Amino acid sequence: MTGAEIRLNDLNYENLWLPYTQMKTAASPFHVTATAGATITLADGSELIDGIASWWTACHGYNHPQIVDAIVRQAQQMPHVMMGGIVHDQAMRLSTRLAAMTLGQDAKVFLSESGSVAVEVALKIAVQFFMNQGRPARKRFVCFEGAYHGDTTGAMSVCDAQDSMHAHFKGYLIDQYPHAVPKTKQQKADFESFVSQRSDSIAGVIIEPLIQMAAGMRMHLPDSLNFIYQVCQRHGVLVIADEVATGFGRTGTMFAFEQTNFKPDLLCLGKALTGGAAPLAATVASERVYAAFHQDCSELALMHGPTFMGHAIGCAAANASLDLFQQQPRLQQVQTINASLQQTLNPLLTLAGVNDVRILGAVGAVEVDFTIELGDALEFFRTQGVFIRPIGNVIYLAPSFTITDAQIQTLSHAIGAFIQTKRSNVTTPVAKAT
Ligand SMILES: *Cc1c(COP(=O)(O)O)cnc(C)c1O
Repeated sequence: MTGAEIRLNDLNYENLWLPYTQMKTAASPFHVTATAGATITLADGSELIDGIASWWTACHGYNHPQIVDAIVRQAQQMPHVMMGGIVHDQAMRLSTRLAAMTLGQDAKVFLSESGSVAVEVALKIAVQFFMNQGRPARKRFVCFEGAYHGDTTGAMSVCDAQDSMHAHFKGYLIDQYPHAVPKTKQQKADFESFVSQRSDSIAGVIIEPLIQMAAGMRMHLPDSLNFIYQVCQRHGVLVIADEVATGFGRTGTMFAFEQTNFKPDLLCLGKALTGGAAPLAATVASERVYAAFHQDCSELALMHGPTFMGHAIGCAAANASLDLFQQQPRLQQVQTINASLQQTLNPLLTLAGVNDVRILGAVGAVEVDFTIELGDALEFFRTQGVFIRPIGNVIYLAPSFTITDAQIQTLSHAIGAFIQTKRSNVTTPVAKAT
């Protein structure tokens, strides 16, 4: 048989291009055949406890029967219909609920398929908000060190500029205004003068409130956000809260912005919106932002429209997920997970090699002082019966909210075992990140 015939007859990943992976040197990916609750099953039949819920999406656990039922029913009735000139039940219901839960009943909800697109749409709305009012020079964004907002071009431009993942593309991307998240009094004063000097060219500030998850669970206090919002109000700058990662309970409240005194002007949602079962994202715009578009002039309309906008199966999954948030004590479960993470991860601070332990809501992170080889870590954790995928030198848990205490214990124990085993071979520790 030729190679091509072998490939057509066997399951293999030779034709898959995997994300963020140098496939020439990376270890083989795990072949997952099934999921349930907080576990994933590999092709050899072994089960792993999933510590990160598929990039924090599967908040109700995998295969939740109410979400599965909603998807099946929607697929039988109407999988998808374009939204050009058409609306449907699931999208209407979802938008009404999301508006009421977030920026208020007069907010507008623009549905798309991925978090990156939700961010693109928010950036575009912010720029056009000023264009529509005759202020086209306001087209730049203040963004933050450590930020991650997605992998498309506009979203990359507001990510951390030093980040190796996107640094290659520097000359290709729009120049934005990066700044550190202001924490101290001095940093706050610097931030205000930074914004004030550039305010004529700034459309908005974009931030991941409370936790920069993709940066390795970097956290800041609500105080920093309150300050940023106040500065934006003083200088007429819009605030975009990218809650693609933090939305839907992850930080202990339904949305992270609820822990501040302000509401953002634009809000990006994705990831856990459908409980991780289908791709869907949303950009929510406040009534005030939307008002700049609601005019007797077709040129002032928002020119954006994804093919799979408001995907009916995705919206059905999202509505089922919101039902579960209403019916189940999810935020209480987040508190229980938080206590369990405190109890099991904080003691790791005494281990040699641990620089920091950070815990907020259902997120726990252990930063170590040595370089982690990703494939090696994945394999070590597999032998412990868990799936944990560190980011750089940060080993983190962001599990489903239905995970059991015993499963958390196993996950945290595996992290301790990993550090004790790997740190003993290390000679030059890495300094703690600031
Ligand atoms: C994951 C993520 C995105 C990008 O979402 P995709 O669905 O992967 O395009 C954007 N912002 C934040 C904060 C994220 O965590």
